[in-house]
Amino acid sequence: MANFKTVEVDTDLLILGGGFAACGAAVEAAYWAKKNGLKVTMVDKAAMDRSGACAMGLSAINQYVGIKDGENTCEDYVRYVRQDLMGISREDLVYNIARHVDSSVHLFEKWGLKIWTDEEGKYVHEGRWQLMINGESYKIIIAEAAKNAMNEAGYEIYERVFITDPLMDGDKCVGAVGFSTREDEFYVFKAKATIVAMGGAVHVFRPRSVGEGIGRSWYPPFQSGSSAYFTLKAGAEMTCQ
Ligand SMILES: Cc1cc2nc3c(=O)[nH]c(=O)nc-3n(C[C@H](O)[C@H](O)[C@H](O)COP(=O)(O)OP(=O)(O)OC[C@H]3O[C@@H](n4cnc5c(N)ncnc54)[C@H](O)[C@@H]3O)c2cc1C
Repeated sequence: MANFKTVEVDTDLLILGGGFAACGAAVEAAYWAKKNGLKVTMVDKAAMDRSGACAMGLSAINQYVGIKDGENTCEDYVRYVRQDLMGISREDLVYNIARHVDSSVHLFEKWGLKIWTDEEGKYVHEGRWQLMINGESYKIIIAEAAKNAMNEAGYEIYERVFITDPLMDGDKCVGAVGFSTREDEFYVFKAKATIVAMGGAVHVFRPRSVGEGIGRSWYPPFQSGSSAYFTLKAGAEMTCQ
């Protein structure tokens, strides 16, 4: 067996994953951490430019409330989700996402994402909550923003390190461990706080589709449930599967 080198990294905030959620967290965290003299570290099992569910780009943005143009209100969005999920939803969380989501979309546009507009300069909708985009480079644009924020603050990003387990001190998560997918290296990340954003889990439940459709997954097969496993091992309660 290869003689694995152990690499220890100490940080204040550890962000696990390099997808959309992690990139967003990195932009926000880098800003606040730098102000407060704290260190942020990010770890992705792949290369951030093309990692995660958005790797090959997307054709639309699936949630935009349209508050600035008076298209909808946060309450409208909460009503839509309540109806869609037959009443089973955390309306406080839904409201909270609704009140922030437009500003994220505006940031994407500022970073270079092409959102379709009509002759009057208004966003083109596909559905009530959807905006059309030229999104082939969507992930590269978001990853670039995260990398810039992290680099400017002098923080480190580890790519091609696969996280396997939480590092636990009793019942408290104090970081994570994993290994390099390229070198004979085992990583120990020690952190005061850890954000888990390693994507979803595919093929946990049998889909409702039949025949050939059974083999089709909405989420990509490389979403192997790292977040679910990590948080379960760290003692989190699973309530919204
Ligand atoms: C085919 C398809 C089409 C879609 N179309 C749209 C659309 O048009 N509009 C829209 O708004 N949304 C769309 N989505 C949904 C959107 O892509 C996801 O909701 C979003 O990417 C989820 O972000 P995330 O950060 O949670 O996960 P992801 O973006 O998937 O990121 C997960 C990250 O975790 C990393 N990771 C995983 N395991 C580990 C590990 N063990 N160790 C270290 N790192 C790990 C991965 O490399 C990746 O960087 C689509 C999704 C798919 C699959």
